[in-house]
Amino acid sequence: MEKIASFQIDHNLLQPGLYVSRKDPVGGEIVTTFDLRLTSPNDEPVMNTAEIHAIEHLAATYLRNEPQWKSQVLYFGPMGCRTGFYLLLSGDYTSRDVLGLVTECFRFIRDYRGDIPGASAKDCGNYLDMNLKMANYWGRRYVCLLENIDDTRLNYPG
Ligand SMILES: [Zn+2]
Repeated sequence: MEKIASFQIDHNLLQPGLYVSRKDPVGGEIVTTFDLRLTSPNDEPVMNTAEIHAIEHLAATYLRNEPQWKSQVLYFGPMGCRTGFYLLLSGDYTSRDVLGLVTECFRFIRDYRGDIPGASAKDCGNYLDMNLKMANYWGRRYVCLLENIDDTRLNYPG
């Protein structure tokens, strides 16, 4: 089988950033997949599952309520390697187009206190596996990156 596109970028060169992973034509529309990379692959510690899970609930809640973007949001979820997340939007976008959206989303995660939306046995498959404090920490770290980002962290190396 062919190596898929996301395995073809050299992860040794990849730094934390906000990248376009791929664009796929679906029907008459383009779907843009963003690579929200929070840690440097095979170099820095990865995120633990409990904070990934908390970030997933908070980001999905934020993105699906954001008035200007909610109708474009198809999916938000973690990478299996635990170094980042994928965001899928309906439409043909650059990383700069969504920089404001993603920054606001992670400010929301950074500043969130209280009960995590959907963290109940009825709403979630593993609701006790949540770490809000560490989600706040990763939110703070990623917002610091996004607030000072340049083109080297908005386009894949290569
Ligand atoms: Zn859940």
